[in-house]
Amino acid sequence: MATRFENGIVVTLGKNNRVLWKAAVVTDGETIAAVGDSTEMKRRFPDAEAVDCSGKLILPGFICAHHHFYSTMARGMSIPGEPAENFVQILERLWWKVDRALNEEDILLSAQLPLVDCIRNGTTTIIDHHASPSMRDGSLDLIETAVRQAGLRASLCYEVSDRNVPGGGIAENERFIKKTGKGDGQIAAMMGLHASFTVSDETVEKCVGIARKAGVGCHIHVAEDAADRTDSLSKYKVPTVDRLHKLGVTGEKSIFVHCVHVDEAEMEILAATRTSVVHNPESNMNNAVGVTPLLKLLKKGVLVGLGTDGMNSDMLAQMRCAYLLHRLANRDPRVAFMEAPQLLLQNNAEIVERQFGLRLGEIAEGRPADLAILDYYPPTPLSEANFLGHLIFGLVDATVDTTVCRGKILMCGKKVLSMDEERLAARSRELAPKMWKRLQKL
Ligand SMILES: [Zn+2]
Repeated sequence: MATRFENGIVVTLGKNNRVLWKAAVVTDGETIAAVGDSTEMKRRFPDAEAVDCSGKLILPGFICAHHHFYSTMARGMSIPGEPAENFVQILERLWWKVDRALNEEDILLSAQLPLVDCIRNGTTTIIDHHASPSMRDGSLDLIETAVRQAGLRASLCYEVSDRNVPGGGIAENERFIKKTGKGDGQIAAMMGLHASFTVSDETVEKCVGIARKAGVGCHIHVAEDAADRTDSLSKYKVPTVDRLHKLGVTGEKSIFVHCVHVDEAEMEILAATRTSVVHNPESNMNNAVGVTPLLKLLKKGVLVGLGTDGMNSDMLAQMRCAYLLHRLANRDPRVAFMEAPQLLLQNNAEIVERQFGLRLGEIAEGRPADLAILDYYPPTPLSEANFLGHLIFGLVDATVDTTVCRGKILMCGKKVLSMDEERLAARSRELAPKMWKRLQKL
């Protein structure tokens, strides 16, 4: 069934970004069939169902390159004990209790609700990093169920760590990687690891062995806080990226999340091995861990993408946060205007291509039909030449009206069609206090 999303402003992105006024995107099944002038598209595809996009701007669906669905039920929870003074205490007092307290239904709901948020924000592809030590086996299947129900795309993995049992989570990753195989374009699998400081050499080697055999990459937090670097230097006499590189974790399918505390030599390893880095500016600011040397990483040729780290599912907000943070951190109002949008609009698509084998991030014939359609009346002229100005200062605050993924309309007129948000949130409000109670005893 073909659909014409017509009478909007289409921003194609891709290498030859075009801004087309009074334009239409025609989707057929899971693919974009054509893009161009609305009248012309109506003439060529008269039988397609028409969706009027007047007063709207059509972009490729956004990508979140690092998320934690499982953090959903922590919202509004009071944390037992003294306030955490540093990052390791945040993990010990909050996240390592939240993940242990999750049961089967919590895991499912914890994925369903942020997936609704993704639809609301036009985020159509997500690379998630999951943990639920009390219910590891089968946990990735629950999340897969939620992703398929939502109609979005996701790469899933379980974060292996030795903190509860040695190699906890390896079996779940191995099972899910085998089951997923090369993926179907909607679900992909990675080998997840928590972070260098929670995995022994033996655990890492096991993970790398499984990942290599299956041809998938590793997804791991790297040097998020100075403590990860200190741990690696004291135990292994080398910084974090060196350690992981020696153990075989680097590679073009692997994702090193954060890389806040990395030196120039580590950046060169990342560039030489074509390992992706994912920057999460809001999370880094929230945890007060430091500032990723983003501009240096990009200069060295490292592919850096953008994630939310579970803070939310709003990629435009992350993009502007990256823009603001690196201007301030560098005390230079000339930087980050190009770089922050590049992370979101180009680099995330490249990272996803390595996982899914799909070329997202561009509205063009033959590309996957993933769209974010936002309410936007440009108050000044808008063209290819000044699109980034509109993106950073206008579109970032525009409301997403319609979300399309794999050719299916998942939200239209701001109404989410694939999920019942009200019912899911009501059930989550019943379950969350029970989870909080279990957590107090941990
Ligand atoms: Zn994370």
